[in-house]
Amino acid sequence: MSNQNTNRMEIKKVNRNRIYKLIYQKGEMSKQSIAYALNISLPTVTQNLRILLEQDLILESGMFESTGGRKAKAVSYNPGARYSVGVDITKNHVVVVVVDLGARVIQKLRVRLVFENKREYFQKVGALIEQTIRDSQVDERKILGVGISIPGLLSQDARKVVYATILGFTGGRIESFEEFIPYPCIFSNDASAAGFAEVWNTNMADNMVYLSLSDSVGGAIFLNQNFYPGDNQRSAEFGHMTIVPNGRECYCGMKGCVDAYCNSRILSESAPNGLDGFFELLRQGSPTHQKIWEEYLEYLLITINNLRMLFDCRVVLGGYVGNYMEEHIHTLREMASKRNTFEPDGTYLQVCRYKTEASAVGAALQHVQPFIDSI
Ligand SMILES: [Zn+2]
Repeated sequence: MSNQNTNRMEIKKVNRNRIYKLIYQKGEMSKQSIAYALNISLPTVTQNLRILLEQDLILESGMFESTGGRKAKAVSYNPGARYSVGVDITKNHVVVVVVDLGARVIQKLRVRLVFENKREYFQKVGALIEQTIRDSQVDERKILGVGISIPGLLSQDARKVVYATILGFTGGRIESFEEFIPYPCIFSNDASAAGFAEVWNTNMADNMVYLSLSDSVGGAIFLNQNFYPGDNQRSAEFGHMTIVPNGRECYCGMKGCVDAYCNSRILSESAPNGLDGFFELLRQGSPTHQKIWEEYLEYLLITINNLRMLFDCRVVLGGYVGNYMEEHIHTLREMASKRNTFEPDGTYLQVCRYKTEASAVGAALQHVQPFIDSI
């Protein structure tokens, strides 16, 4: 094939990808509005839409009322064209989700399963994945892969764990899981994955900092909608910023880390029913829990304000505690504004949209992103 032909084909593919991504972003569009938005001729749009339709990647989704009285045909992306599986591995639980191309959770399973760096454990996880896929009734041939979120730091190719003290899985490899999973697998850091799920297909802002408040504290940084990994894949380790000189001991061996003041166990271990119980007692006005909460918030707001000062962008609260923050967001924003040197309000502070399954969804999206890019 001549170079010219190759170029023409590449341009065609670029156009098709731009068209698909625009439909994906907007959900539903007319042919005319696609042509207008991308500055591509109507015949080119038509031709590409036909190919996308043939590939089952888009759907003809009805009619738009257009101004001239004639109705314009609308297209939308087909969320069921492919699926992806996400797994969130924590010390005591496994969450498995099946998501469609739109990052919607089709099937979810959460079971208590204590992590062990043993073959039997990986085999059990493989069986849970198989079960979840079966329950979802999704065509197995449409599954892009399995993303596995773990509380640990990863190698650059995301196939090896370089630090996972909480699990005791330092040095762990993706092959351990792959042996029992008949799909391509990739690791994700739990907080990065959850942050990825939060920014997915949102136009809210170009920049976002995600603060994950779970058994350990972590986070993720997105600049211009791109994940910022850092030089050593250790960005956003917010849990190990020092907030109290010589303060409480952290599991990492240092003193005064954010983690020692803001991890979810500080709240959950003070109540008989974990976090649910804690927030229930707080609602009932228990003075003991009120005191724990106030102290927790004091350190949390120092952390949040530091993030705002550093990044000057929205801060999203996630993780186990983030799931309960909706009802406290006004208090938090008020506290945030009081601490802030420059701003009269704390609206930059937001609550996560995904709840307990955020990390699993984000891990699943690690397969969706390259698929969309490849269309
Ligand atoms: Zn630490």
